[in-house]
Amino acid sequence: MRSLEQFAADKLATLSARALARSLSPTDRRNGPRVLRDGRELLSFSCNDYLNLSTHPDIIAAAMSATERYGVGAGGSRAVTGNHPLYAELEAALAARKGTAAALVFGSGYLANSGLIPALLGEDDVLLVDELAHACLWAGAKLSSARVLRFAHNDVEALGALLAAERHRHGRAMIATETVFSMDGDRAPIAAIAELAERHDAWTLTDDAHGLGVVAPDPAMARVPLQMGTLSKAVGAYGGYLAASAAVIDLIRHRARSWVYTTGLPPATIAAATAALAFIDANPDYCTRPLAHARRFTRLLGLPEAASPIVPLILGPAAAALALSQKLAEDGLLVTAIRPPTVPEGTARLRMTFCAAHTNGDVNRLAESLARHRS
Ligand SMILES: *Cc1c(COP(=O)(O)O)cnc(C)c1O
Repeated sequence: MRSLEQFAADKLATLSARALARSLSPTDRRNGPRVLRDGRELLSFSCNDYLNLSTHPDIIAAAMSATERYGVGAGGSRAVTGNHPLYAELEAALAARKGTAAALVFGSGYLANSGLIPALLGEDDVLLVDELAHACLWAGAKLSSARVLRFAHNDVEALGALLAAERHRHGRAMIATETVFSMDGDRAPIAAIAELAERHDAWTLTDDAHGLGVVAPDPAMARVPLQMGTLSKAVGAYGGYLAASAAVIDLIRHRARSWVYTTGLPPATIAAATAALAFIDANPDYCTRPLAHARRFTRLLGLPEAASPIVPLILGPAAAALALSQKLAEDGLLVTAIRPPTVPEGTARLRMTFCAAHTNGDVNRLAESLARHRS
């Protein structure tokens, strides 16, 4: 016991000394980007609820009505009795949207990636991962026991060279990347990656956590056989998914341990996600707002044009990111500092995200405050 306490205290002291300690602040997000923290209203540029659907009255109504009709919990894993009838509609909507024959909903995006990779790859296989890929793709990589090779971010030439040198030594091969990078906001060269994958008989897995609903899909996605994503960002609910062929989905249902050995989603969450996807289909103009705000922001600050609703401002040292975040908070703006290990060492940053409920005035306010503190 003493050694355990000592271990925890030493680790925490090291994190503090490196400006990497993290604290939790209760945050009330009921009012869209105007959030309440410690009794104070802050204008948030740190939510992934890009379309503000987590608090949309129609989506709330769908969740409430599902709870009233079906109760709160799923009661079991999907393979036993937790496969609620509401899943069929959600999975059909996801498959239709992704242009695949089938789709499978997981408990979360993290569970999807950590389960589907080991279901498809084993010891003799190789997985090539973009160096900036999300932690849950790395978790899946590790759990798979495949050989894992990282390639330089969005570097198609480096990826091609790795495939040429290493592909023939392995049985199956997979390339894992993100459509929109979560901490950088840039987009992967999907067509070029699909081209390489086809040439080397490698299976492409894309993580669309930050694309669905807010960025027009790359036309080359039709060539991506494993399209994963989450229902917890622009969709505003919770859960992850894989869209793929019928055979792949069937196999995943048999083999992905993070799907088999966990309880199904609450009915309210499934109903909310289904209602949110219908909302997204019915409101294409509304869905362009987050990216338009991001582009207004990059124009105002003279930054490279935003490719998604995510705009990073890389500061380097963790302490510098914390200090600038603190100055913005004094101006009533919530922009959380993103530090290692979420991003590579020496690239601590402010990560701004824009949502539909921001006004042009809100974007101006952030740009003015940042310009003032950086000069
Ligand atoms: C948020 C995120 C996930 C995890 O999704 P959850 O549904 O929150 O578990 C996976 N991949 C990327 C790129 C993400 O940003």
